[in-house]
Order: sequence, then structure tokens, then C-alpha cells
Amino acid sequence: MKALIFLLALSLLGMPRACSASLERVEKSEEEWKALLTPLQFEVARRKGTEPPFSGAYWNFSGEGVYRCVCCGAELFSSRDKFNSGTGWPSFSAPLENAPLREERDASFGMIRTEVLCARCDAHLGHVFDDGPPPSGMRYCINSASLSFVPAD
Ligand code: FE
Repeated sequence: MKALIFLLALSLLGMPRACSASLERVEKSEEEWKALLTPLQFEVARRKGTEPPFSGAYWNFSGEGVYRCVCCGAELFSSRDKFNSGTGWPSFSAPLENAPLREERDASFGMIRTEVLCARCDAHLGHVFDDGPPPSGMRYCINSASLSFVPAD
């Protein structure tokens, strides 16, 4: 019993460290991001741009693996949750369980939308809508330019 309590205390102590490690911030200057990204990636991810539909690397792509934030490498989406929305942008019904995503209200262009950002580096990813497929009913409409696909081995 003592050992059990000890192990429990140990796991509780370890937890905050694990959480803060996964949410470690990545901060760079505009110039640093510009040097790391292509012009399109910079425009979309750092300036809240949108790639033209049916133009990106992943809207019509069905490789198996994980999609990372193009800026900081955080794992955000799995190919398992990808579906063909017909919109011309890669679409996911859910993010990965521990994905560092942040949502913000976006009232630009005369619409009320929910913007999706990477919580580690503040990269603009896209928007989330509630017209996705069951069971989640969510549609994460994400720019290819904000993602970097890593195939499963
Ligand atoms: Fe990021």
C-alpha cells in the first residue's frame, strides 16, 4: 500500500512537468519565421492568410501519418481523422488528443468564424466549423501551407 501511495505521488509530481513540456512556447521574430518558411507558408501561418482552395499539397492527399505545425513541428492532426470535405482544403473531424490547439473568435471578412491556431507558436492554421461528419460533427478546415506531413513508418 505504501509503495502504491508513493507511486501515485510520484506520478502526480511528474504530471505538471509533462504538461508544461508539451506546451513549451516557440517564439521567433518575423524575420526568423520568414527565413524558415516559404513565402506562402509565411503569409498563411504568420499573417493569417488563406491558400486558394484546391491548390495546397494536402487537400487531395491521403497518405497515412501525422500532420505537424509547419512552424514549430507540434503534432496536430492524424490522417485517421482526415476526410474529403469537398472544400479544397484539408479537413479533419478532430485534432490529435494532445494537440496544442487554441481557438479564437474571428470576425474578419463579415463572417463570425472560429479561428484555429497552434498554441505553441501562434501559427494560424485555419477555422473550425460545426458541420463535420459524425460522431464529432466538427470540421477543422486547415491550410496545407500551415501543415507538414510526416508519413507513418
Ligand atoms: Fe506551431
